[in-house]
Amino acid sequence: MSKLQSLAVKSPLPDEEPRLPAFDLTQYGITVADIRRNLSPAELYIEAIRDDAKCDISDTGALIAFSGEKTGRSPKDKRVVEHPDSKDDVWWGSVNLPIDEETFDVNRERAIDYLNTRRKLYVVDAFAGCDENYRAKIRVICTRPYHALFMHNMLIRPTRQELHDFGTPNVVIYNAGEFPANRRTKGMSSKTSVDLSLERREFIILGTEYAGEMKKGVFTMMNYYGPKRGILSMHCSATADKKTGRSSLLFGLSGTGKTTLSADPHRLLIGDDEHCWTDHGIFNIEGGCYAKAIDLTSEAEPEIFQALRFGAVLENVVFDPHTHHVDFHDTSITQNTRGAYPIEFIRNAKIPCVAGHPTDVIFLTCDAFGVLPPVSKLTPDQAMYHFISGYTAKVAGTEMGVTEPQATFSPCFGGPFLVWRPLKYAELLATKMRQHKANAWLVNTGWSGGAYGVGARMKLKLTRSIINAIHSGDLAQAATVRDPFFGFEVPTSCHGVPAEILVPRNTWSDKEGYDATARKLATLFRDNFVKYADGASAEVCAAGPMGK
Ligand code: ATP
Ligand code: MN
Repeated sequence: MSKLQSLAVKSPLPDEEPRLPAFDLTQYGITVADIRRNLSPAELYIEAIRDDAKCDISDTGALIAFSGEKTGRSPKDKRVVEHPDSKDDVWWGSVNLPIDEETFDVNRERAIDYLNTRRKLYVVDAFAGCDENYRAKIRVICTRPYHALFMHNMLIRPTRQELHDFGTPNVVIYNAGEFPANRRTKGMSSKTSVDLSLERREFIILGTEYAGEMKKGVFTMMNYYGPKRGILSMHCSATADKKTGRSSLLFGLSGTGKTTLSADPHRLLIGDDEHCWTDHGIFNIEGGCYAKAIDLTSEAEPEIFQALRFGAVLENVVFDPHTHHVDFHDTSITQNTRGAYPIEFIRNAKIPCVAGHPTDVIFLTCDAFGVLPPVSKLTPDQAMYHFISGYTAKVAGTEMGVTEPQATFSPCFGGPFLVWRPLKYAELLATKMRQHKANAWLVNTGWSGGAYGVGARMKLKLTRSIINAIHSGDLAQAATVRDPFFGFEVPTSCHGVPAEILVPRNTWSDKEGYDATARKLATLFRDNFVKYADGASAEVCAAGPMGK
């Protein structure tokens, strides 16, 4: 060994650090001899940059990775095994497409056959659930070092002792995403299939390398086993008050601001996307954050910007071939560029990510119609109505002349990840909110001053002021007016926000246009809610938008 090499080799492990036992995957029928279990970020960087043509390093040290053809989740290809033990629990339909056990076995074997063709495999053994009383042991088996680093960041990283004692995992993810499903396999409609067996607690990925699929797979599993034990799993971010330790939840569909608004220097960060609410308070399911990187700037989002450094994964971003400087405005690969980093990369993260019962439950919506007020206070029944509705709007594609916003209703602000019927989660939320006297708010992070094309997206600074006023307790004291279309109370003053924008009709130059658009949105809400009318109480049904 040369002088330089001997200098580079670290000293032996201290006595208290146990040596890890020999490890293989033969129990799964995986015979690959070279299994790289829980490599460090530095080791995974070496593997990724040496072996994976679709990986690179940014000038801030983040690992840049391309996920290939799929740059977002494939919700139409997610399937759940129809099994006698869970059949009656599952909300079957477009969210949970049924497959039989036989088809699951075919896809499982296909994934394992593919994994067996690899020279080496990566394993990440880690936890989901920051509260030790509720945590699940997750095993990820994958072929790309980037996927291993992603899950190292997103799950809760075990200590060496915990890894030594890991034992049998509760959930196993087989990520064979580089290899397609066979279209001739029963029930396959594309080359992608993401298959979940609740009974075997296994998750098979074929035909997509989008890393978010693994993260949301774990969440889907929690969304089944949580409520089964009376634990409410939620698609929300969470922060906590530095003094009281009480938390606040931000629910919302993709792009409404969960991650952005949870990176809040005034508060402790508990998590940016997936939480559970138990009798003891809340906990983060994950150990990392997965932030949208589109148009990211250090001025508007300093906490997230600085987290995209060594150890972070930057997915599908475009960078300068010489300097490796990332251009966050370049969406030529996808609009859905993302950064994944361990939660402790955010300075005010609370470790472990647990906090007290919520004082406030905030529903974020990005209303591209520009109709909903920047903030509204909800009664408990209105809160249930809006939770079950799960409204946001998308701005339609960039085809010529198409500027009409599209309303999206996704129950519990997380329809694609639900396993039980939406009302199961809604009832749990109503009970817990009542028990802990949490206030409910609807915050529009979308358009103001007119619909998409006329008005503009709410300034992030103003939304942050609204969130601050909710957390300080000021907004609960503010005078309100009743919204004539939606029936909720709208605060007429809020520190840091011009009063004239708080009532959206004031900001539209075309008042009749406002009324017509508000009426139209109210109708969309009512039409959507029809399917829940049987299950929801009369009070909740009546808490939606008023009249015709
Ligand atoms: P996902 O579930 O996909 O992770 P998310 O709810 O976490 O979605 P964010 O990642 O927070 O969504 O994305 C919100 C995006 O909208 C960010 O790019 C943010 O910069 C931008 N934005 C613009 N205006 C606002 C606003 N007023 N409030 C919140 N976000 C805003
Ligand atoms: Mn997010």
